[in-house]
Amino acid sequence: MRIRNEVQEAVTSEVLRLKSIGEAHNSPCWCPLCEADVTALSMTILPPRYSTTVFGDITTDGNGSNPVRSALSTSLRRVDRNPNHPRSSPEGPLRKMRVINFAYEEGDALVSSLVAREDLPCDCDDCLADTLAYSLNRYPPKYGVIRGGRSNLPAYQRDFMRHELNVIISHAVNVIASAPRHGQPRAV
Ligand SMILES: [Zn+2]
Ligand SMILES: [Zn+2]
Repeated sequence: MRIRNEVQEAVTSEVLRLKSIGEAHNSPCWCPLCEADVTALSMTILPPRYSTTVFGDITTDGNGSNPVRSALSTSLRRVDRNPNHPRSSPEGPLRKMRVINFAYEEGDALVSSLVAREDLPCDCDDCLADTLAYSLNRYPPKYGVIRGGRSNLPAYQRDFMRHELNVIISHAVNVIASAPRHGQPRAV
């Protein structure tokens, strides 16, 4: 099932913008590790926004401020104050690093397992995508950084997250089944 993560899109483009202007006034570290940490933290700070058909603009809150820029500046300050590497030796690009979206990974696996068990009222692409997006939009985001193949989220937290998402997804299945969009645009 394919859903859009609008928070990820907005944060990624804001990171590119900030890197391109250099942030000369406070010159944060943009080594691959700090970039991944800043990205993961910003996406965790922002409310989740997954969509299937209806796209919105998350770079304005209606009061003229930009929540994405605020999240980035908070994260930059935090990571720059306390980088996950000695200040004198920024992380080189050699170690494999990637930002991981824990809630998405777990939610996606859970919805897929319902499909495998034939445990869904309808398993068309619309209903699967809507069920996942609906659930993730109601669950606190949790991003991390995988570094050298290891994630920074303890296994018990992941188990707990799986348990909570399972509850939300069971509810979402009924909500989506009660009014499937089947080709019509609808926000979840
Ligand atoms: Zn760094
Ligand atoms: Zn359906």
